[in-house]
Amino acid sequence: MIELGGQDTGPGWYFGPVLRESFATVRMLATARASTRWSLERLRVRQEALLRDLLAHAYERVPLYRSLYDEAGFRPADFRSLADLPRVPLLTKERLKSADPLDCVVRGADPARLSRVETSGSTGMPLAILLTARERAWQRAVAWRILFEHGYRLRDRTLEIRQNFGPAFAVQRLGLAAKDWLSILDPPDSWASHLCDRGHAVVVAGAGTLRALADAVVERGLAPPRPRLVFSDSETLDPETRARIAAGLGTDPIDVYGLVELSNFAWECERRRGFHVSADSHVVEVLDADPDGLGDLVATDLGLRVMPMIRYATGDVGAWAAEACPCGRVLPRLARVVGRAVDSVRLPDGRRLFWPFFHELFAAHPELERWRVVQEAPRRLRVELALGARDRDRAGPVCDGVAHQLAQVLPPELEIDIRRRDAIPVAPGEKTRMVLCRL
Ligand SMILES: [Zn+2]
Repeated sequence: MIELGGQDTGPGWYFGPVLRESFATVRMLATARASTRWSLERLRVRQEALLRDLLAHAYERVPLYRSLYDEAGFRPADFRSLADLPRVPLLTKERLKSADPLDCVVRGADPARLSRVETSGSTGMPLAILLTARERAWQRAVAWRILFEHGYRLRDRTLEIRQNFGPAFAVQRLGLAAKDWLSILDPPDSWASHLCDRGHAVVVAGAGTLRALADAVVERGLAPPRPRLVFSDSETLDPETRARIAAGLGTDPIDVYGLVELSNFAWECERRRGFHVSADSHVVEVLDADPDGLGDLVATDLGLRVMPMIRYATGDVGAWAAEACPCGRVLPRLARVVGRAVDSVRLPDGRRLFWPFFHELFAAHPELERWRVVQEAPRRLRVELALGARDRDRAGPVCDGVAHQLAQVLPPELEIDIRRRDAIPVAPGEKTRMVLCRL
């Protein structure tokens, strides 16, 4: 049994903790890496054992779960195997946010002694998650495992571009797992210069940030050494963004899915055929799937005990893959993660259209530099189109063509308002969000 969770709210973790946390990360990383090769049966047994324990713990010691489960008439003993999972009440963002913060953590825990991780709230609902040092190490190991699955080496120098910088570790001063942090608030030109100067082997950032970096490299005519690995997370990596990153940096990005509150737990392998789920650390479900298999993603982090996250409704949408991945890994695999449920348009009959639909349609118009679809009323779509400078004189025919195409495939009761734009400004956190539902 992999060691995780456990009671680590005692003071031992807080004295001389840096070294201890580093060792814990390395130890957990080794076991996480090994379990990537486990059989599905072994993973299932582990998931069930950890879930049984986690449910009993949450019900006994975390007031939020006690009230949530009592309201639904659920008892931890009702869960015997994964087949019973649908009986466990869902935890919604709304419920988590409206709860007293002290009710969300284990009784007796001192929030002042826990790490606080804040989500960006790009869906309009910021959340704070509290972690112990051991849980932080666990989340780091779970995320690092993805790097190692792609051949990451401890001697690799990484460039990571974020709003908030991560911790610096003592071993990094020795040149192990060295990392340069840059701010997303800096101009992309400065990221590109840095990449040229240091020749990073690994680049990690959100999809929109990577795209801006790649564009800066191309626009300035730079030729940085090709990074061996490029990891894209935080935002939906659409095909156009993927292609621009690959063209600018010379490396096809690896898409990684996760949530700030649950770590990264689904990732593309070298075949880029959907997302392998880290089933040793997370239980992922797809609920209420539509005929295309797309449904709401629900995730449980098996390693969080102080602030458990059990059957957490992520607000994202995905679909399972039916067949095995040619890479040989047996981990469950999501064929698609199309992003947040809000990255969709809601049709009058209740169906949802996600960005791939629009991407395919607009791909037929190479004159378009950027586009965005915004739904602010149930029966009206605003379609914003920005053409490249060379094609501006063709704006009329392009707009007419798009309007005609949309009218053919969308229901007539949906009014389509085509707006031509010279540029499409993007708000922070909306960098690659091309479909926005503001209903
Ligand atoms: Zn694979």
